[in-house]
Amino acid sequence: MTEALTKTDLQGALPLVASGKVRDLYEIDDKTLLFVATDRISAYDVIMENGVPNKGVLLTLCTKTWFKILSDAIPSLRTHFLTLDLPPQIPDSLRPVLQNRSMQVRKLRILPIEAIVRGYITGSAWKEYQKSGTVHGIPIPAGLQESEAFPDGPIYTPSTKAEQGEHDENIHPDQAVAIVGEQYAAKIAELAVQLYKVAHAYALERGVIIADTKFEFGADLETGEVVLADEVLTPDSSRFWPRDSYTIGRGQASFDKQFLRDWLVKEGLKGKEGVRMSEEVAKVTAAKYREAWEKITGGN
Ligand code: ATP
Ligand code: MG
Repeated sequence: MTEALTKTDLQGALPLVASGKVRDLYEIDDKTLLFVATDRISAYDVIMENGVPNKGVLLTLCTKTWFKILSDAIPSLRTHFLTLDLPPQIPDSLRPVLQNRSMQVRKLRILPIEAIVRGYITGSAWKEYQKSGTVHGIPIPAGLQESEAFPDGPIYTPSTKAEQGEHDENIHPDQAVAIVGEQYAAKIAELAVQLYKVAHAYALERGVIIADTKFEFGADLETGEVVLADEVLTPDSSRFWPRDSYTIGRGQASFDKQFLRDWLVKEGLKGKEGVRMSEEVAKVTAAKYREAWEKITGGN
């Protein structure tokens, strides 16, 4: 198994401007960032000590492929993606490790909400619904079973974008208006659902149900236009279910982090800091990421 990359070191070639749970962002110039996906993995908002080999490459290629699929389907869509090519500032010695796990992106002012779209009721939405008949405070028809599709189509259920170390909080779409303003909120809500529908139909034909996903949008620094940012439709930002074993009334086997989450719960490690995944957990998770990527994109 190749060594997982949990830290990047560009040896001063570019300044580091931010480091998230998974990505390290470097500045190429005042309009452009190098967006590097490491092999770090988080579960229950905690980053594991060790990484999942090759995960960052899969996330990057998956995102690049989806940007193309989405842009082909929605010609007016703008994304932050520029190129997978590394900028000239990167020395030859660092190129092999950064190639295919980095993309050059347009620097944006990120609009600080997570634009979640849910096609199926599961996870925190299922929990809330059982308690109160609502999802993010939105009333939902009675009688839905776990994992069932929402009867009136996918719903837009934003969350706050928490500062590092804090948890994102599910909010009602009206609260997103208070955070980003009426115009941006309306545009994000419309675009997020449209993108989900395109992706859902595309994946379904290939045997994968996208149960829910999260988008991030930014405002163009010059024009203020809404631009699709971050990673898109990866196993980190989405719940992917195999279509052939989909059955309502229970939780679903998934291609994503579920294996890791289940292991953490079983071992009593849920939410604990400094956890090292066993070799097996890292390996199985790596295989799941690869499987999801190959199914949907054909490995391109
Ligand atoms: P965060 O650290 O912000 O809570 P995260 O842990 O998911 O989120 P990563 O995915 O590791 O973060 O890093 C990506 C970060 O880069 C996110 O904070 C995201 O909002 C930000 N980002 C994505 N695209 C752009 C862009 N085009 N311009 C500026 N920032 C961006
Ligand atoms: Mg992220």
